[in-house]
Amino acid sequence: MLSPTPPQTGSSARSVKFIDVAKRFGPVTAVADVNLDIAPGQFVTLLGPSGCGKSTTLGMIAGLELPSQGQILIGGRDVTTVAPADRDIAMVFQSYALYPHLTIFENIAFPLRARRRRTSEAEVSRKVRDAATMLGLDALLERLPREISGGQRQRVALGRAMVRTPTVYLLDEPLSNLDQQLRVQMRSELKDLHQRLGATMLYVTHDQGEAMTLSDVIAVMSAGRIEQVGPPRELYDRPANLFVARFLGEPGMNIFAGDRADGRLRSPGVAIALPPDLPAGAAGLCAGIRPEDLVVSTEKDAELTGTVRTVEFLGSRSLMRADIGETLVTAFLPPDLQCEPGQSIGLSPSSPSRVRWFDAGSGAAIAQPG
Ligand code: ATP
Repeated sequence: MLSPTPPQTGSSARSVKFIDVAKRFGPVTAVADVNLDIAPGQFVTLLGPSGCGKSTTLGMIAGLELPSQGQILIGGRDVTTVAPADRDIAMVFQSYALYPHLTIFENIAFPLRARRRRTSEAEVSRKVRDAATMLGLDALLERLPREISGGQRQRVALGRAMVRTPTVYLLDEPLSNLDQQLRVQMRSELKDLHQRLGATMLYVTHDQGEAMTLSDVIAVMSAGRIEQVGPPRELYDRPANLFVARFLGEPGMNIFAGDRADGRLRSPGVAIALPPDLPAGAAGLCAGIRPEDLVVSTEKDAELTGTVRTVEFLGSRSLMRADIGETLVTAFLPPDLQCEPGQSIGLSPSSPSRVRWFDAGSGAAIAQPG
């Protein structure tokens, strides 16, 4: 039954767990050794660049791909080899093909009319109308797909998944066919829908902004591996390694390499104060500073000195790119700050606590108190 309250299944039925899961296609390792625990009702995003294994991971939960090793549990039940139809999941893809000759009503009703489900006409009608109300499609039920907009079609695809009241929703880049404005609108609708349904949702995207706004938890993937799992804020503030630091944020974190000397990380144009509690020993160090954590300072006091390359006015602030030694640095500056390409500039972190430190060799973050 569709209702604004969480589905009627026991809440633990909606958990998803990966235990040492890997997927190989011949010599290609698409997914390597994934361990992941998804709590019931969470919105979890698999985020990473093209080819990192996101869709394959989702496909294994759906039962479309058989893992080469490991186990997948849904609601504590081992479903590793269970047929897709018996997993109680619903999937929404990027290409959400609707049946062009069927009305919106019939498109949403389609899963309920499948042979295995014996749903009465009254029940079909009630479920379709409940879903349509939740998605704002009530007035469009008699139309054909070609008579509605792209965003509305995307909502129909979601409605088709909702009428099945699955334990887990799998969403593979469902918004990527939409224009920017619709994407942003659908994003907040999806977030709202997740809150109202209380369902477990697994979402795949390469768009870090989408992942940040939608997710309770993000799993950042690279080359088949999970680099870090956690709430968006935690990943943004405390990236576990250089990959996550660079991948999250628009633009990503500025990274400075250098050598330790006189209590500073030094390289051409760079003299960033080292925190006193930084473990001694690590030879190669990198400092990471987010663009919004850099402020202009006099060149004499600046921890970074270089030359302005470009300045883009963004309304509430400006995005400046500057060459600091060999690093192209980005910083957000107040919009009224006079700054011209070619001009020399001094920048410093807004606070020492906004600088993250990484081991240059492994790329791993160095634990810092506070
Ligand atoms: P995208 O964002 O581009 O969709 P993705 O992160 O979803 O990428 P996957 O589609 O999971 O990545 O693919 C992971 C890796 O596995 C890629 O290197 C891909 O080429 C490879 N791969 C996927 N499916 C197959 C297949 N059926 N046979 C061989 N290699 C495959």
